[in-house]
Amino acid sequence: MKIVYFHNGSVILREKEIPHPSAGEVLIKVTMAAICNTDLELSRGYYDFSGVPGHEFVGIVIKSPDNRMLEGKRVVADINCGCGDCTMCREGKHRHCINRKTIGIKDWDGAFAEYVLAPLQNLYMVPDKMRDEEAVFTEPLAAALEPTQQIHITNQQKVLVMGDGKLGLLTALAWKHYNPGLLLMGKHPDKLTIAEQAGIKTILRDLFEHDRQECYDIVVEATGTAEGINEAIDYAKAEGTIIAKTTSHLPSSVDLAKIVVKEICILGSRCGDMDLALSFLKEGYVNVKPLIEAVYPLEEFGKAFEHAIRPGSKKVLIRM
Ligand SMILES: [Zn+2]
Ligand SMILES: [Zn+2]
Repeated sequence: MKIVYFHNGSVILREKEIPHPSAGEVLIKVTMAAICNTDLELSRGYYDFSGVPGHEFVGIVIKSPDNRMLEGKRVVADINCGCGDCTMCREGKHRHCINRKTIGIKDWDGAFAEYVLAPLQNLYMVPDKMRDEEAVFTEPLAAALEPTQQIHITNQQKVLVMGDGKLGLLTALAWKHYNPGLLLMGKHPDKLTIAEQAGIKTILRDLFEHDRQECYDIVVEATGTAEGINEAIDYAKAEGTIIAKTTSHLPSSVDLAKIVVKEICILGSRCGDMDLALSFLKEGYVNVKPLIEAVYPLEEFGKAFEHAIRPGSKKVLIRM
């Protein structure tokens, strides 16, 4: 099978044997995958990554030795593969397994390939009517929705989403159902327009007025930059909450005194509930179509990756 391989900052297309599912695993024929900022970070050395990337995908189960009923079914998968044995796994928190492997990110070959393995228990069925172009957004949408499962968001709170990148946009589109008055701040007029068309208030970062600062109950930091967190601290109200969504390969230095004095809570938030995201997509709560930048075949992955790296580019999809 064809695979994409990241090694020492280079992106290579090569051949590899189709893997065999071990006990508790399935073999999935990938039909579509998406390039995420995490992939860009991996290519720059995040996690010392070397291997097959790709963690946002949809595909068809080809082999499922432990449950033949799944064969032929279209699925998406939770990317966190727990050991099943550690204290976190025993509490049902496989996403925080201390021996965790993560599809396409850590110790598990990803979906920029014709086939990918996944644990049986990580699969979620894709509704028949949902197109691959929508289903491929399940993983990032789950991540965008995760803070809504971590904290109580009310309509009375003032919410600011920082960053109109892929995750920031998805967050604004999904959160408007919890807080319709939220404000999305970004740098790209074309992307802010996508949010505006969905009825979301937006503002260009350069026009963000000083008197608007320090007044947000919740600030979602999704700028993708190491400095974003300090801005978020400025924008948060005293006793406010900052949702930290950026995973940069560069370390952030934060002004701890400001956090202490304002008594701010900073909450890390990573992956989320795939089932919730699927239902948001199925019900049409989030329209992902305007977020698609381009679709490339796997053979042109190099071109696709260059496109995805371009500043301001939206979601680049790979069709197998
Ligand atoms: Zn991702
Ligand atoms: Zn575990």
